[in-house]
Amino acid sequence: MNDYDLLVVGSANADLVIGVERRPAPGETVLGSDLAVHPGGKGANQAVAAARLGARTALLARVGDDAHGRLLLDSQRAAGVDTGGVRVGGAPTGVALITVDPSGDNSIVVSPGANARLTPEDIRDAAGLFARARVVSAQLEIPLETVTEAVRARAAGSRFVLNPSPPRPLPAEVLAACDPLVLNEHEARFVLGDGGGDGGDGKDPEGRARALLALGARSVVVTLGAEGALVAEGGTAVRVPSPRVGAVDTTGAGDAFTAALAWRLGLGEDLATAAAFAVRVGAAAVTKEGAQASFPTAGEVAAL
Ligand code: ADP
Repeated sequence: MNDYDLLVVGSANADLVIGVERRPAPGETVLGSDLAVHPGGKGANQAVAAARLGARTALLARVGDDAHGRLLLDSQRAAGVDTGGVRVGGAPTGVALITVDPSGDNSIVVSPGANARLTPEDIRDAAGLFARARVVSAQLEIPLETVTEAVRARAAGSRFVLNPSPPRPLPAEVLAACDPLVLNEHEARFVLGDGGGDGGDGKDPEGRARALLALGARSVVVTLGAEGALVAEGGTAVRVPSPRVGAVDTTGAGDAFTAALAWRLGLGEDLATAAAFAVRVGAAAVTKEGAQASFPTAGEVAAL
C-alpha cells in the first residue's frame, strides 16, 4: 500500500538573504538591506513543490532544534508535506548566507549543519516511510553514504530519482539505481568527471546524456533552462521544449522540475510524458520571485 507518491530524502536550509550595493572584498564590511529569511535547501524545496502540485509527499531530513528548524517544519506542513520523518537536533539547522547585488550576482556561504548529520542510521530508522513510498528522490546536500543507504532502503518496485547537486562523481551502486538521473549541463560535466574544464568537453546535451547512460544510469534527464529538457533512455533521446514565459527568478526551477517529474513517474507516466509536465512546472516557477514561494499549484500549471 503506497501512502506516499513521493518520499524526498534531502536537505533543509534557512536561506538568509541580504541585498547589497556591492559584495564585500576580503576584509571589507558593507551595509546591506534588511535581512530576509526563506525556507530552502533542495530536499525541502522538492517536497514543497510536489505537495503543492497535489502529490502525497513525505520529507526525510534533519534540522536543528532552533528557530530555523521550526521555520522549515512550518513551511513543509503549510504545503501539506508529512514531516514525521524530519529528525530534529544534533547540530544547528543548515544555513545559506546569501548576498545579492543589484545585477543579481550573488555570493553564498553554506553551513550544512544538521544536513551533514543525516546519517545512514537515520535512513534505516525510517524503514516504515520507505515501505510506503512509490518514488524516492534525493539530492547531494546530505552525505553521499546517506544517499547510498536510501537507494538500499527502497521498497521493491519503488523508483529512485536523483538530482546530483552539488555535483560530484557517483558510486556505481547509486548510478545504477537512478531512473532517472536529473541534472543540468553543469552538473552533468561534474558527474562525468569533466568538471575542471570550461565545459568545452566536446559534448552536446545528447552526448552527455549518452555518456551518463554508459556510466550506468538507467535513464537521464538533462534540464536546459529556457530550452526545456532532454530525456534519454535505452537508445533514444528526445527533446522536451519548455513553454515560453517571462522569467523573473529561476531560483528553485530545477527543484520544482525534479519534484514534478518524480511525482508523475510514480503515477505511471513514461519519462517523456512526465517531463512534458515537469517543464511546465519549471516554467511556472520562474515567473515568480523566490524558490518555495514560486512553486505552482496544479491549477496554475494548467493555466500556463
Ligand atoms: P537548474 O535550476 O537546476 O539549473 P534549469 O535552469 O535547467 O535547472 O531549469 C529547470 C527547468 O525549469 C527547465 O527544464 C525548464 O523547464 C524550466 N525553466 C528554467 N528556466 C526557464 C526559462 N527561462 N523559461 C522557461 N522555463 C524555464
